[in-house]
Amino acid sequence: MVIQHIWQELLKIITEEVGSRIVDTWLKAVSFSYWDGAQKVAYLQAPNKFVQEWIKSNYCPLLEFHLGRLLNTDTIKVIVGDSAPSGLPQVCDPQPMASTPSSTLVKSSKSRYYLNQTYSFDAFVEGPHNALAFAVSQAVAEKPGEIYNPLFIYGGYGLGKTHLLHAIGNSIKEKNKNILVLYQPADRFVNEFINAIRFDKIPQFEAKYKEIDVLLLDDIQSIANKEQTQEAFFNIFNALHDKHKQIVFSSDTFPRDMKGITERLRSRFEWGMIADIQVPTLETKIAILKKKADLNGYLLPDTIAHFIACYADNIRSLEGSLIRILAFAHLTMQEVTLELAQKVLRPVHEEKKQVIDFESIVNVVGRYYKYSLADLRSDKRNKDLVIARQVAMYFMKTLTDHSLQEIGRFLLRKNHSTVLHAFDRIEKQRIHDSNLQQTLEYIKKKLL
Ligand code: ADP
Ligand code: MG
Repeated sequence: MVIQHIWQELLKIITEEVGSRIVDTWLKAVSFSYWDGAQKVAYLQAPNKFVQEWIKSNYCPLLEFHLGRLLNTDTIKVIVGDSAPSGLPQVCDPQPMASTPSSTLVKSSKSRYYLNQTYSFDAFVEGPHNALAFAVSQAVAEKPGEIYNPLFIYGGYGLGKTHLLHAIGNSIKEKNKNILVLYQPADRFVNEFINAIRFDKIPQFEAKYKEIDVLLLDDIQSIANKEQTQEAFFNIFNALHDKHKQIVFSSDTFPRDMKGITERLRSRFEWGMIADIQVPTLETKIAILKKKADLNGYLLPDTIAHFIACYADNIRSLEGSLIRILAFAHLTMQEVTLELAQKVLRPVHEEKKQVIDFESIVNVVGRYYKYSLADLRSDKRNKDLVIARQVAMYFMKTLTDHSLQEIGRFLLRKNHSTVLHAFDRIEKQRIHDSNLQQTLEYIKKKLL
């Protein structure tokens, strides 16, 4: 249901703004129950009066703001009730979120082993960028604990790591319901450990983890610099590994490049199989978009898929764009056409273009690589500086409307073909180089 996707998308955006704790505690307990298109009113449903009041007094303006942006309209009103508005149809399950384990409001024994069923192998599109990770994930699901243990999947933001972890868990559970599978983001592992210390429950904490058959630990980089947690995890790892229990990690960084991890734990990460996920090719991005639309019951034409695919490299953003387009069409009762897609995506893009100029790019890139404008303009050619210069040119070409000549002139290059060359190099290299890809995403985020 499109409406549920809008809500999911909204939660993602708000998580980025206010952090996952607030979203997990409050917003995930609420569901999107009805959209009144004529009045532009969104009705939310809270599980009880307490949550209702809290959201009303704390989060309604935030919800209205982001929902408005998502749907390209600025007059949205959000109403929170503690039951469905009378006389209105229910368009989604009233508590789809309430059973997530992260919700501190609901604690059921089932939630400990929560897996997101929509993240399956079937829903995953294979491409050259993820072929290895996909293959080894399937092998692990086929024979947990037997071949690749641990499995360590790494790659940039929004490229499918979490999806694969859930897919492994789902596939194992499908074959054998009795296997205990735990999916856990590493930051939640850290919080759990801290609470165990606070409440004197370390033995229970360790016992819980040691009884698991398959441990899927997402974003393991979050345990960096937390030595005591690493120590506790090291023991759990050894206990599980000794018993041939499967462990799967995801990380945004290759083990060798991870900072703040003890050497002995790092060596454990490297014990089994390490598989990377790179930036998808244009063809794969199109295939993924078509599949996502298909899963929503919509046949997405190639031209529109191609248009969306050009907007970003990370799949999470692409999915966000797709949902915005489908939601807009759905809520305004229009057909999805290329013009509509352009209308929905363009404002965000153009709005951002206006504020980015050469100075802001030089500032952000310069700060990141620790070079001044004079350095970037100089003829010095040490490796780091050359990359910084190329990255600056890359953003000047992609995020501003200036010509190659203007960019060349600003950076005191004699020939504007240098700019084109820099752009090509970065475009090509980012496909194979996940560090560069992450740097670009980081800088872009700072700029936008
Ligand atoms: P990560 O954990 O690497 O940041 P996610 O696994 O959360 O990324 O993926 C972001 C979104 O993109 C998810 O909705 C996921 O389903 C989707 N996605 C990523 N890769 C693929 C793929 N190869 N096929 C289908 N969907 C994908
Ligand atoms: Mg993830």
